[in-house]
Amino acid sequence: MEWTKQYAKALTFSYDDGNEADVRLVSLLNAYGMKCTFNLNSGLNSTDVWQYRGADVRRLDLTQCRALYAGHEIAVHGSRHLSLTALTPEELDAELTGDQKRLTELFGTVPVGMAYAYGAYHDAAVEKLYSIGIRYARTVEENHSFALQTDLLRFRPTCHHDDPQLFALAEQFLAMEPDKPQIFYIWGHSYEFDGNGNWDRLERLLDMLAGKPDIYYGTNAAVLL
Ligand SMILES: [Zn+2]
Repeated sequence: MEWTKQYAKALTFSYDDGNEADVRLVSLLNAYGMKCTFNLNSGLNSTDVWQYRGADVRRLDLTQCRALYAGHEIAVHGSRHLSLTALTPEELDAELTGDQKRLTELFGTVPVGMAYAYGAYHDAAVEKLYSIGIRYARTVEENHSFALQTDLLRFRPTCHHDDPQLFALAEQFLAMEPDKPQIFYIWGHSYEFDGNGNWDRLERLLDMLAGKPDIYYGTNAAVLL
């Protein structure tokens, strides 16, 4: 948490599944000077197509994504997007160690972060992550809080981008003059903006939060570690 030497507030984003809508998300984040962590499933490389509220969702070809994600962080999301709590120890290893290894080959850096597919985890998954050098892992248990957390392998995000409290939380974060470091952590899937037709929601949020001299904009690893 090097940033805390100069800042009391940090903003970070966490987006899952490596799909084509990430192209639009990255271009918006870059335009506003924001940093994000992308949680990717290396074993489902461009093979998956599904629908979300009438919009096609296509996985990106991760062998072609180094330039797209440059400046952001790549993190583990499970090789095949499996629910970790249903796996044998061998399957757990393939899902987590396998994804970490493949993402290292694809992007040239060893992932130190993770997001739980379906938000599913148990102690065995947490222990496995710890053993392979994963230092934080995001759940889907939003807490509407900016406070620092001690259990980073069961990290709770502030909110999802469709949370009804999103803009109230943003106002609150902007107005704060905290004594202790505070983190605003927003998560989601970029295809949700397509399916819900609400990219304007993201633009409004970025517009509100960008370019503030008292906010540090960093990837999950830069902000949490
Ligand atoms: Zn996912």
